[in-house]
Parts: sequence; C-alpha cells; structure tokens
Amino acid sequence: MDGFPLRRRLSSVCACLCLAVLVALPVGADQRTQLQPGWNLFSTQDDIKLGLQYSEEAEQQLPMLRDERVNNYLNELGQRLVQFAPGEKYPYTFKCVNVADINAFALPGGKIYVFRGLMQAADNEAELAGVLGHEISHVALRHGTSQVTKSIAPSVGVAVLGSVLGDNALGKLVTAAGAFSLNSLLLKYSRTDESQADILGVQIAHDAGYDPKALADFFVLLADQEKKLGVPPEFFSNHPSPEHRIERVNEEIQKMGGPPAGAKTDSAEFREIRKYLFSLPPAPRRAMIAETDPYGSSSSGEEPDPPSEKLQPFESDSFKLQYPANWKSNGQGSAVTLYPEGGVARNAHGSPELAYGTMVNRYEPRAGVSLEAATDQLIAHLRESNPGLEIHRKPEPMRLGGQRALSTYLLNDSPIKGKELIWLVTTLRPDGLFYAVSVAPQTAYEHYSRSFEATINSFHFRQ
Ligand code: ZN
Repeated sequence: MDGFPLRRRLSSVCACLCLAVLVALPVGADQRTQLQPGWNLFSTQDDIKLGLQYSEEAEQQLPMLRDERVNNYLNELGQRLVQFAPGEKYPYTFKCVNVADINAFALPGGKIYVFRGLMQAADNEAELAGVLGHEISHVALRHGTSQVTKSIAPSVGVAVLGSVLGDNALGKLVTAAGAFSLNSLLLKYSRTDESQADILGVQIAHDAGYDPKALADFFVLLADQEKKLGVPPEFFSNHPSPEHRIERVNEEIQKMGGPPAGAKTDSAEFREIRKYLFSLPPAPRRAMIAETDPYGSSSSGEEPDPPSEKLQPFESDSFKLQYPANWKSNGQGSAVTLYPEGGVARNAHGSPELAYGTMVNRYEPRAGVSLEAATDQLIAHLRESNPGLEIHRKPEPMRLGGQRALSTYLLNDSPIKGKELIWLVTTLRPDGLFYAVSVAPQTAYEHYSRSFEATINSFHFRQ
C-alpha cells in the first residue's frame, strides 16, 4: 500500500518563524488528526474509472442544473480546496444538481455533486467550503472503493481475489461480486468514514483559509432539518448524529490551534450565486422526482387498508425481518420504514411523517451508557421535535432478535388526528442504540398491534 503523508500545513519558508511561535505559544501548535485511506483492493486509476462510469448514471438519474455560472463558481471554489487534499491528485469536478433537498455526494475519483438546496441553505461560503471539504475527503480517503472492498472481499474469497487482481481487476471483481450498485458506493459509508470526512474536511477548509467552525454551523442546520422531517433524511440516515459531529469538528479545530489567522467566512461571489439561485424557478424536491413520492404519502386522511396477516421478508445488511405483505419498505442501511399505502401523512410543515407502520433506526447515545439510560436519551431526543410526546407505559424488559431489549409505550400527537400510540423497542448494538418505532392512531392501534408484534418478533440481526 502506498504511504499517504499528510501535507504539512506550514511551508518550510516559515518553519523557523513558526518554531518561535510554538515555543512561545504551545497551545497554538498544530496537532491535527492524521488520516490515511483504509484497505483497498482497487487502484487509484480504478477509482477514477469507476467514478466516471457512475457519474454518467448519476447524471441521467438526477436533474442536473447545467448552469455554467453556478458550476463555474462551484468548480472555482472546489479547485481552491482540493489543493489542500492529501495524497493522490484526482481530476476533481463539481456540479450542481437541481434538487431542493440539502444534500451532496462524492463519487470515487473526484466527481462531486452538490444539491441546489444545500447551496441555498448554506449561510456563507465557509459553510459550503466545509461541506465540499467533507466530500473531497471521501474521495481523498477513497471511502467508496474501500467500502466496496470490504463488502465484496468475504464473498469473493482471497484466492479468487489473488487471481483477478490482474489488468482488469475492477471489471472482474464487479462481476464476481454480482450486485453492486451505485447505492452501495453512495450510501454505505460507515460512520467511521463520515467522521473521517468531517475531520479531514475541516482540515482542508482550514488550510484553504476558511473559518473551519462553519462546518459545525452547517451541522446545526442539519440537526434542525432532521427534527423538522420526523423521518430521518435519506442521505443523513447513515451519518453520526449532528450533535456528535459538531463536537468532533470543534475538537479538531482545537487540535489545529484554532481557525487560521484572518479566516474567511464569506465572499461576494457566494452571495451573488446564492441570490441568483433563489431567482431561478424553484427546484423540485427529490421525493417528487422518483415516481411521485417514495413514501406514497396521502393527505386524504383515509385510513389505510388493514395489515395483511401474510408476511413478506425484508433484508438489509444489518438485519432481517418479516412484515405485512401489503406494506411497502423504504430506506437504506439501518434506517428503514415499513408502512401501508397511505400510512405516511404530511405534517403541519408539509414533511412526510409516519402515521401507520414501523420505522427502524439507530440512535447514538452518549458513550458508555446502559440500555435504560440510552433509551431515556432517545425519548428525550424524540421529545425535542415532538413536544406532545409522553410515556404511556414505562419501559419493560423484552427480547429483540435474541438480545436484551426494552419495550416502552408512548403517546404523541398524530399527524392525522388526535393521539397516536407508539410502541418503542430498543436494544444496544455495537454501533449504538437500535430502535423500532411502531405507530398507529390510538383509536386504530388494536387493529395493528398483532402485525407490529409479528414484525418485531421476526427480527433477526445479521451478526
Ligand atoms: Zn459524507
């Protein structure tokens, strides 16, 4: 494996001067976290080829803004940042996607896409620089192909790997692994990867002269968004909790000795581009692009068909379960929603909210807490965005997937009418508190309780 020396922040020209400063002010020393790409079976050329291939697919699937003024601005900002990315020099390009959601993603080899909603939501150029730094870091740290490496290696086997790692390793591996889609590259970054991208991203923004605290400000915005949505935003469902990210980003800034002198926060160019974006016809939401709405939400208020007693299997990479055969599933990784047609309603803010069905997700409690304490934290967290939430029946012990779990009943304001009853099941997993929320209006709950129980009882963790 190639070494991956981090670029020294200070050039040798000012080394003496800085040494003097170090002696005088040891607090200001740069003790940044050193990061390197993980185990990877692909070459950096593979990253570029793969990114190119998938960028074509992505650009067909997504409504691209194709506005030279906006893309030029993004590229100009992006190129200034990539100079401070460590390791391999990838051919970075930056493009705006005409979607209102707050989102951005990076393909291996340097293709970076920023949703228009993100550019419009950012308060200043330093926030956008922080996000671009995060995406550039996914590229520089090769998270995409490293993730693919981890997911296919066990199924392909070491012997096969040895023989295919010839001239066309990429193609053969892809064939050998079978189903590996765009999603497996885009959406399966681990929380460690996300955390690394935050850390390196803040280093890059800092080195390019931006106020690195802006990335933390942007996470505050994300946290607000998540609270408003009720259902976790798809893209952020795999990310560490915003609170944890803010903490880690601030810690890294401290390690670097604080923001650079004369840190840049905003620019006239950014303000101009943002004004221009707001002057364009509004961008559609991503949910409106795929067919109609991924949740098939109805605002008619009609009760969904009763849950079928026949069950169907659902499998993600972390668990398996059975759920009613007339329900749908939506989601990725550990964040999954199972619901009947019409089971997702629009709340007062127009955001989709689960009214009938089961939602499975992960919560990151403060470190080293018991199942009981983590469950309390989760309930407090849910209450922040649901002020009407109250405990209906105190936590009681049960099993989930053969593990010790807690069963708690909650009452909340239903997005449809009156009160809803929520059955919360929690269990501790190596990566945080795993929870399942089964919900129905209180008046209809008895018609759903058997289905909820069948779903929860069928739960099986994959490892
Ligand atoms: Zn990320």
